[in-house]
Amino acid sequence: MTTSGSSAEALIRLREVHKVYHMGSTDVHALAGVSMEIMPGEFVSITGASGSGKSTMMGILGCLDRPTKGDYYFDGQPAGALSDRQLAHTRNQSIGFVFQTFNLLPRTSARDNVAVPLFYARKVRTHHDALEALEMVGLADRAHHAPSELSGGERQRVAIARAIVNHPKLLLADEPTGNLDTHTGAQIMMIFHQLHQRGVTVVLVTHEPDIATQAQRIIQMRDGKIIHDGPVEPDRRAQAMESTRVLAQQKRNRESVGT
Ligand code: ADP
Ligand code: MG
Repeated sequence: MTTSGSSAEALIRLREVHKVYHMGSTDVHALAGVSMEIMPGEFVSITGASGSGKSTMMGILGCLDRPTKGDYYFDGQPAGALSDRQLAHTRNQSIGFVFQTFNLLPRTSARDNVAVPLFYARKVRTHHDALEALEMVGLADRAHHAPSELSGGERQRVAIARAIVNHPKLLLADEPTGNLDTHTGAQIMMIFHQLHQRGVTVVLVTHEPDIATQAQRIIQMRDGKIIHDGPVEPDRRAQAMESTRVLAQQKRNRESVGT
C-alpha cells in the first residue's frame, strides 16, 4: 500500500526516473531524473524542444518501455514489479495511445482497426464496441472504409477510437495534431476535451502553444528533465479552448456545404 498520504491517489507517479539509451560507445540520457505526479481526471500538456525526452517519457507512462532507473507507479501499482505480460495487460485495459503518425493497419477497415485492442482483451462484442467508439469520434459512417480512403483527420479519429475502445483511464497522445492542419487539429482537440469531460485523464505532447494552453497544466522538458511544471491560467485556457471550438465549427460548416 501507500506510505505517504499526499500521493495516495495519483494515477501517475514517477520517482527519479532515468532512461539511458546505449548507442555504440555513447550513452544518451533521454530522461535524467524525472519526478512528477498526475492525478486522475487531469489534462496535462508536455512541451519541450525536439530531443528533450517527451516521447521517451510517454513510452514509460504508457508501459511500452521501462525506466533504466527509478520508479513508475501507475494507479498505485509499481510498474517495475509487473511482468511484461502484466504490463501488456495494464496497457490494454487502462491506457490508450495516440501517435502523430496514426499507426493504423493499412488494408483493414476503420471498424476492424478500432477492434484490435478488443481482440487482445478477448471481448466478444467487438463490432458493437468498435462502432460505439467510432460513433464517439463522429465516424460511424466510415466504419467500412480503409485508411487510404480517409483524410488525415479521419485517420487520426479512427486512431483515437481505437485508443478509447476499452474505456481506458489514461489517454496518452504524442503530437497527435503534428501532421494535421489547424482546423483539423482543432477537431481532434475537441474530441480530447470531450473525453476529458467524461473523466479520462489526458496527457498530450505538443510543440504548439495554442494547443498546450488547452490543458489544465503544462510540463516543460529540457535535456531529459522537467524544467517547469505549473497550471495554465484559467482565462488563457478558456480563450484557447474557445478558438479551438470556433476552428472546429468552421471546418464542420465547410464540410456540410461541400456534401
Ligand atoms: P522528444 O520526443 O522530446 O523529441 P525523445 O524522447 O524522442 O525526445 O528523445 C530523447 C533523446 O533520446 C534524444 O536524444 C533521442 O535521440 C534519444 N532517443 C530516443 N529514442 C531512442 C532510441 N530508441 N535509441 C537511442 N536513442 C534514443
Ligand atoms: Mg517525440
